[in-house]
Amino acid sequence: MLIYEYKLDGNRVQYAALDEAIRVVQFIRNKCLRLWKDERGVSKNDLQCYCAVLAKEYAFARNLNSQARQASADRAWFAISRFYENCKNKKPGKKGYPKFHGIGRLRLVGNLKQQIETYPINQIKRVRLLKCADGYYVQFAVQAERKIEHTPTGKEVGIDLGLKSFLTDSEGHTVDNPRYLRKAEKRIKRLQRRLSRTKKKSQNRKKARQRLAKAHLKVARQREDFARKTANTLITSHDLVAYEDLRIANMVRNHKLAKSISDASWGRFREWLTSYGAMHGIPVIAVPPQFTSQDCSGCGALVKKTLSTRTHLCPSCGLVMDRDHNAAVNILAKALGTVGHTGTDALEA
Ligand SMILES: [Zn+2]
Repeated sequence: MLIYEYKLDGNRVQYAALDEAIRVVQFIRNKCLRLWKDERGVSKNDLQCYCAVLAKEYAFARNLNSQARQASADRAWFAISRFYENCKNKKPGKKGYPKFHGIGRLRLVGNLKQQIETYPINQIKRVRLLKCADGYYVQFAVQAERKIEHTPTGKEVGIDLGLKSFLTDSEGHTVDNPRYLRKAEKRIKRLQRRLSRTKKKSQNRKKARQRLAKAHLKVARQREDFARKTANTLITSHDLVAYEDLRIANMVRNHKLAKSISDASWGRFREWLTSYGAMHGIPVIAVPPQFTSQDCSGCGALVKKTLSTRTHLCPSCGLVMDRDHNAAVNILAKALGTVGHTGTDALEA
């Protein structure tokens, strides 16, 4: 599935219509959640049927096409099933109990065929409308496999995702965390403070909120961009990439690490790694994290170190190496020696 995203350029009347549609989608999702909360044993199918009831009951719900109505019921069910899944798997921390969404935050799934005349209609599987802080966007999910002719490089690489550097590879190269993310976060904090100082319901508050939303959007885009480009570079220049199967959810619970981790956007990076790997048809292997930083990559001896020990110093064979570099070499060795698991299932945290 490929996703194409375009910014919409419309007039005031059109935007008002979009807002209205978004509000209706929101309304249906919330109504579905209400039903699930109030009654026992509500199934996905019950929610689908409930859509028809809502359409009968509310004129404005009738104005939305039935496909979009069903899609908002599906979104409610998605939130519910994710919650069940988290409970079943005993996910640490919050289980994501489905929440009612405020108006204007959600997405509309509808049909905007006229916007995409350049693509064969039967290949477009879903159209989604998004309202962001800086305008309206439309996304088209097109059913297509993107394949890229991979030029063999004869190189295999292991990478260690770290806090000091974003990543260190088994050749000893590092990619640093982008500074601008930290800078942008400072700006967000400042805007947050400014917002809290404004009077409720004032014009200033409205403006401050808009500014903050835009700043958030910018960071999210920068983060995504960094993750995507870094992954692409790595895949293009190697024939095999191995990384450590870290459980991000567990690590983010540790507050000290959390900031850098969210900064570094490891999760998005690994997803891009997997999808670029698939496009290029090269293996991307997640290896279990046990002992990757403790073992000596030279002789295999266990060399204990704390998080603050930056250098690997082996008493058995005398190897001296940067801690993360040593880990990256171990990660590659593990991937080559064992059959790791590939694909997105390795990303589940
Ligand atoms: Zn050694």
